[in-house]
Amino acid sequence: MSKVMIIGAGGVGSVVTHKCAQLDTVFTDIILASRTLSKCEVIAQQVKEKTGRKIKTAQVDADNVAELAALLKSEQPFMVINVALPYQDLSIMDACLEARVHYMDTANYEPLDTAKFEYKWQWEYQERFEKAGLMALLGSGFDPGATNMFTAHMAKHYFDEIVELDIIDVNGGDHGYPFATNFNPEINIREVTAECRHWENGEFVTTAPMSTKAQFTCPEEVGTYNIYRMYHEELESLTKHFPSLKRAQFWMSFSDNYLKHLEVLGNVGMTGIEPVEFNGAEIVPIQFLRKLLPDPASLGPRTKGKTCIGCIVKGQKDGKEKIVYTYNICDHEACYAEVNSQAISYTTGVPAMIGAKMMVEGKWMQPGVWNMEQLNPDPFMDDMNQYGLPWKVIELESFSLANSSSNESE
Ligand code: NDP
Repeated sequence: MSKVMIIGAGGVGSVVTHKCAQLDTVFTDIILASRTLSKCEVIAQQVKEKTGRKIKTAQVDADNVAELAALLKSEQPFMVINVALPYQDLSIMDACLEARVHYMDTANYEPLDTAKFEYKWQWEYQERFEKAGLMALLGSGFDPGATNMFTAHMAKHYFDEIVELDIIDVNGGDHGYPFATNFNPEINIREVTAECRHWENGEFVTTAPMSTKAQFTCPEEVGTYNIYRMYHEELESLTKHFPSLKRAQFWMSFSDNYLKHLEVLGNVGMTGIEPVEFNGAEIVPIQFLRKLLPDPASLGPRTKGKTCIGCIVKGQKDGKEKIVYTYNICDHEACYAEVNSQAISYTTGVPAMIGAKMMVEGKWMQPGVWNMEQLNPDPFMDDMNQYGLPWKVIELESFSLANSSSNESE
């Protein structure tokens, strides 16, 4: 018997709500709360049509700790599934502490006025959650989330020691718009335009955004794509929890068209996060841009193609070098048929549901603040196979992104 409160009625929130509603014996009561009540109601109606279940909705400003704590105290859920924006992570954690409710999210805290995301702010809550006997699970989406699980699962079952990690996120989908982002445009653009950091011999090395490019051929004929090295938050926790890693990199595919639009928008100042005055009002360019771009939740019916996200690990087993690749392939149209969303929201929302299920079922329940790879990957990996994100493991003869070209001088 578990009641959960999902916060955030966006693209990911919609998938989590559908997936939790499908498991009526695990999630016996569901409340969807967000800033705009009408968005919760639309999702609740879709869930009713698909699953027959009635879920409760509520309006809340999650930046307001007192308001959210009051809602939590009156509803008394077992836990919060936070799929609002990274800006709300700390206020939601504060409200959970006040109302004595467990916490989970899919993205680490990012201050609104600095495009910089790191775990230190949330790791600082360790003692408070531990003392309160509450659990906070960080980053239970796909990347971070499933990628942490893939790495931990390979480290546990295939290696004595892992030495190199490449996380490769390919989206081979096409939504037909000249330019749109697959999840919250503001968060996506802040992430993509940030400086690149990768792990090399015990420290993070910083390079210019998008300055290192390579080609990657996905398995199962998903295709060959240009991928770009960028910083991603799981690098911080994975290098901390697997100190044997000598190198760790994150790669994401982008089309030339996406990059050209982004370059032009950046050049004219539309991706800026500093407020500018316009007609007597203060406008933050990237927030205005977000208003103009298609809502990621609207991409579902238009997107065709597949995603292929996985981790390639090099390491040692019984004194021999070994390379293992764990990946998932997800079809945009199949996701839409199941839960009315494209695969980016789906691949985030399913691991969010599974992370919550691990906590509700007690498989992962322990007080404190935890990254995914600190917990046993086996039950989570089993559930990925069962609930829509099947994965495969293959051993590779060789792997190298050595042909990567650096665009730094361009
Ligand atoms: P959306 O912008 O589609 O949805 C965010 C939702 O949060 C909106 O409904 C928004 O309300 C609501 N919200 C924002 N501020 C508040 C607030 N102060 N109080 C209450 N509700 C609020 O984003 P996505 O669904 O695309 O992304 C959700 C989260 O998932 C983000 O944190 C993102 O970083 C993360 N993510 C993680 C991934 C992973 O693999 N780990 C991949 C993709 C996303 P309103 O509708 O009123 O604006």
